[in-house]
Amino acid sequence: MPDLLLGTRNLHKIREITAILAGLPLTLHDLREFPRAPEVEETGATFRANAELKARTWAAVTGLPTLADDSGLEVDALGGRPGVTSARYAGPGADDGANNRKLLEEMAGVPAGRRTARYRCVIVVAAPAGLLACAEGTCEGRMAESPRGDGGFGYDPLFLIAPVFTRTMAELPAEEKNRISHRARALEAIRGELAAAGNG
Ligand code: IMP
Repeated sequence: MPDLLLGTRNLHKIREITAILAGLPLTLHDLREFPRAPEVEETGATFRANAELKARTWAAVTGLPTLADDSGLEVDALGGRPGVTSARYAGPGADDGANNRKLLEEMAGVPAGRRTARYRCVIVVAAPAGLLACAEGTCEGRMAESPRGDGGFGYDPLFLIAPVFTRTMAELPAEEKNRISHRARALEAIRGELAAAGNG
């Protein structure tokens, strides 16, 4: 089966993307197999630019068609932040807990109706010779006032899922998150192209 490299070292992303793409005729690899592949500094101003930077760099370095995910949280009351800086919102090397605490501090006093937010994910697939596919997915929600649940990763314990806002993303079983998430929707949009690549 044709190879596809998942251009990420984030184990949560690797697990989710692998589950969402299950059944496609592809042999999936990830960057753990390429420990000497360089880090890519996310210097782009958009998810799309950063996803393309990662996919192109790792396709060139490894020679494999590469799928890269760039994603994050956009909070309306914060003018769309943390956006492309979601992973390092509380500073370089910040962990999920520190990012979530910073977000809650910034949202203190904002009423429920103005806590709307969305996750956004851009997926880019590149071969060493150039771009193959690109797609975007979003998932709407609202920021909770305190964390709940221990599934998922990142901001999931604070992300109440639209339209009913009763459960956080971290309270969903993985199979359910992988049906409704921004990542699932972006990957669904290019599933056909990936399947075609797999069929040669
Ligand atoms: P990236 O690795 O530069 O794409 O940054 C992704 C960051 O966005 C993660 O570190 C999380 O903070 C956030 N993020 C992206 N997808 C999710 C998700 O599915 N759940 C929770 N947080 C996410």
